[in-house]
Amino acid sequence: MSETQSQKNPAADARVTPMMAQFIEIKTANPDSLLFYRMGDFYELFFEDAEIASRALGITLTKRGKHLGEDIPMCGVPVHAADDYLQKLISLGHRVSVCEQTEDPAEAKKRGSKSVVRRDVVRLVTPGTLTEERLLDSSSNNFLCALTRLRGGSLAGDSVYGLAWIDMSTGSFQVSETDDQRLAADLAQVAPRELILADNLLQEAEMRQVVENSGSALSPVPRAFFDSATAADRLAHYFGVKTLDGFGTFTRAELSAAAGILAYVEKTQLGERPPLDPPTREAGAGRMLIDPATRANLELTRTLGGEKQGSLLATIDRTITGGGSRLLASRLAGPLINPDEISRRHDSVSFFLDNEIMREGLRQTLKGAPDMARALSRIALQRGGPRDILAIATGLQAAHDMAERIGAAGNVPAEIVAAQASLEQAPHSLGAELLKAIKEEPPLLKRDGGFVQAGYNPDLDELRALRDQSRKVIARLQADYAEELGIRSLKIKHNNVLGWFIEAPTAQCDPMKNDPGRFIHRQSMAGAMRFATTELADLESKIASAGERSLAIEMEIFDRLSAAIVDAGDRIKAAAQGLAILDVSAALAKLAQEDGYVRPTVDNSRAFEIKAGRHPVVEQALRSAGGESFVANDANLGPDGDGDIGNIWLITGPNMAGKSTFLRQNALIAVLAQMGGFVPAAHAHIGVVDRLFSRVGAADDLARGRSTFMVEMVETAAILNQAGDRSLVILDEIGRGTATFDGLSIAWATIEHLHEVNKSRALFATHYHELTALSAKLDRLSNATVQVKEWKGEVVFLHEIVPGAADRSYGIQVAKLAGLPAAVVARSQQVLSQLEEQDRRAPSEALIDELPLFASITPAAANAKTEVAKSDPVLDELDALDPDDMTPRDALEALYRLKSARRQEH
Ligand code: ATP
Repeated sequence: MSETQSQKNPAADARVTPMMAQFIEIKTANPDSLLFYRMGDFYELFFEDAEIASRALGITLTKRGKHLGEDIPMCGVPVHAADDYLQKLISLGHRVSVCEQTEDPAEAKKRGSKSVVRRDVVRLVTPGTLTEERLLDSSSNNFLCALTRLRGGSLAGDSVYGLAWIDMSTGSFQVSETDDQRLAADLAQVAPRELILADNLLQEAEMRQVVENSGSALSPVPRAFFDSATAADRLAHYFGVKTLDGFGTFTRAELSAAAGILAYVEKTQLGERPPLDPPTREAGAGRMLIDPATRANLELTRTLGGEKQGSLLATIDRTITGGGSRLLASRLAGPLINPDEISRRHDSVSFFLDNEIMREGLRQTLKGAPDMARALSRIALQRGGPRDILAIATGLQAAHDMAERIGAAGNVPAEIVAAQASLEQAPHSLGAELLKAIKEEPPLLKRDGGFVQAGYNPDLDELRALRDQSRKVIARLQADYAEELGIRSLKIKHNNVLGWFIEAPTAQCDPMKNDPGRFIHRQSMAGAMRFATTELADLESKIASAGERSLAIEMEIFDRLSAAIVDAGDRIKAAAQGLAILDVSAALAKLAQEDGYVRPTVDNSRAFEIKAGRHPVVEQALRSAGGESFVANDANLGPDGDGDIGNIWLITGPNMAGKSTFLRQNALIAVLAQMGGFVPAAHAHIGVVDRLFSRVGAADDLARGRSTFMVEMVETAAILNQAGDRSLVILDEIGRGTATFDGLSIAWATIEHLHEVNKSRALFATHYHELTALSAKLDRLSNATVQVKEWKGEVVFLHEIVPGAADRSYGIQVAKLAGLPAAVVARSQQVLSQLEEQDRRAPSEALIDELPLFASITPAAANAKTEVAKSDPVLDELDALDPDDMTPRDALEALYRLKSARRQEH
């Protein structure tokens, strides 16, 4: 709708129909969303909303009357199919306000024939607030996340950030605090579907880039949502407690984010309160830091193309339930760094590996266990149906069954004991009651009744019998009338206008026409007449009231059961979580057994010793292709002798030999081990990796104006600025995107920095064979290469990593394999021989002699530049400015001041 249209006072304009006036009023109150305006069996959209929706949904755009002399564009979707259309609009990033009729049209009529049925927005549908099964992916969480910043919130005076994220479809609620360095990585771990933040924060260019990178739908909200002074009260109010002490302690930033998310939930749910768990703190620092680029490059939960298929998650996921699958995904997204916690999870996997029969029994039971967490949320939000109640019932039954099976086992590890306890404490008698109440295959909607089991409620049974008997009574009445009146073709029929009536051919209707006291004429048809009687009218009202009364009883039963479920919500949720933990542990054990994974040792050392490691995804792809099998390889990056700093391996080798695969497989093994899984290797000993960095592959990011090389350098810079001596760094072909000498120099300096400053365990693959000479100067750098055989001029890839350096890249042979025209291959060989001829100087050795080692630059020296920068008065003043608190005039004056200070400096 154009602004002028929405700003007009509709009531003042005589040409605006009352319905349009109502529409405009509601639309004006909900400007940032498409308005689904309920009219009978349709949701209609008008004006610009209609144009947007018809384009997005591919539905016809029509017109409905005129507004201020112009046609009103309109389109509509049927109510019964609205979910599908909603899903499409939401997935395209739209938000939708659902406006319902809030009174019976008959009531409106009482106010006058022209009065409009009252309507109101009952719900604002946004990507992060969905709960409907059909709108959600059962194996992924649907997180809504709030981000807030407190300037000068840390002791050092830096900004701190609060994050709060909920999954409204399951009730989970977590908060954490983070800083500038971790923010992007923490957002990537949560991977929210929708991110809310204060509108002024979103206007900052740097912040905008970070949040846009997270790939979430962005919802700016007023700053007041995050007011940290009232945050604790808002939380306490939501959870109906006097103080938050019982939930633990939270930082100001966490409270502010949590309050922001609740304000948004209240705004979008219009009064309904989703049953959220009290917030729990997720110590960001308790997880392995994996920045967004590394996460994407390693294809942990999605491939670079955005698919699930082909990701690490899809490869290892053997879970059975939606809850299990979601838990696995969240564990994979945030591997742990505490060896004891990791070991607890490994114990669970070992338990199910050792108890195969029990495991398979449990997995069988899990197949029948529905998604209790999501059903519970829908019920609490008044969006549940009979199938949700049945889901809780069968879920509780599965929980009971599993609790008994585990109770019978010996040597149960701690994590499984806790899961079993939550299954035992589930409200089983409620489950049994629900099973008794609800039919086996109930209808989707409660609206028409018909979901309560026969035998559950005597009154309902009686009314249903009456309804069924009435049919017999009518049949008997029809036979009686036919006989008494001597009209064999007489029928008793029903329609919505007349109710029950007698119908007979006109020619035979005399006996009824002659007795108008008993047979009341209602309608004459072509060739037939219709009559009513008091007997029929009595029956009619009996049947109708039986129907109404039985529906009322069913609704009452539904409400009573729903209330009992919501009352027991916490225990149901705990049981759902228990089932998810069992599902994940059993699934990881199944994976370990089927694919030959072993339990890794994870401790606080700096070890990284992998024997016969494999790449889980490539291995599975090769297996399903049925061709060659995967060649396992060792890696050892642990400290030598009694040193305490890990090693760097520099890997050279031909194209296509398997360098990238080797690099990634070691990173994936670290992730798998620390998320609590077993690993594809014969043996693995890993000193906890606190931060994982990878720079592999390259892609343009043209949308943000970055070339391939720029992306590569930004990612490399992030690694060199952040990696530490507990980190694992994977670098593949640094410097390849520029001229040879530039690239070689950058790669050279990068290795030196990693070795001397970062001191990380690292794998570095390169085609710059000159770099292998560095191992002579850097004591913790070793060379490794991938073996190939040459056979009749062709290369044969052995994919074996061995100590040593490659002599050449076999690039031309690989190009030949790829199908480059023979003439081009031959010419390349000619050019190569000439270049090799000219390169007699052995540049790598010359370089190593000529260049003083970067190693002599100490960390202090490396930071010196920044220190000088810090003492610059212009920069100091710039730092002290807070653009949020400045008027445009202040800003201009500050700019003049800075310019003149700068001039004085020179
Ligand atoms: P380039 O230098 O051209 O980037 P690369 O040395 O990094 O090549 P990869 O991309 O790792 O090579 O591997 C090429 C292909 O070789 C893989 O797609 C995979 O099919 C196969 N391969 C790699 N490693 C192994 C292995 N260990 N066992 C079996 N096949 C492997």
